[in-house]
Amino acid sequence: MITPEEYGFYLLSEEWQEKRDSIQDFCEGICMECNDVHGNILHHETYENIFEEPLDDLLWVCKRCHNKIHRSGRVHVPYYAKRKYKSEVQYLT
Ligand SMILES: [Zn+2]
Ligand SMILES: [Zn+2]
Repeated sequence: MITPEEYGFYLLSEEWQEKRDSIQDFCEGICMECNDVHGNILHHETYENIFEEPLDDLLWVCKRCHNKIHRSGRVHVPYYAKRKYKSEVQYLT
């Protein structure tokens, strides 16, 4: 069960910073979706493995691509998160 507090706390953790750094190194800071501009958002393709997500679950993207991904409904927010935390779901990236 994810609460916005837990998620916020996780974003400050060392594990998360390390994942963030490895991905940024890997793509050299360039958006992995458009390969065109610098990204600034680490997006979850799925929240299934939240807190233990493999790097494959994450995408480094720019704001424009991030909005596009979320608008397209490509993100699979777990059912319970949708139901219980409907208003805060957008807090998850
Ligand atoms: Zn992009
Ligand atoms: Zn996202």
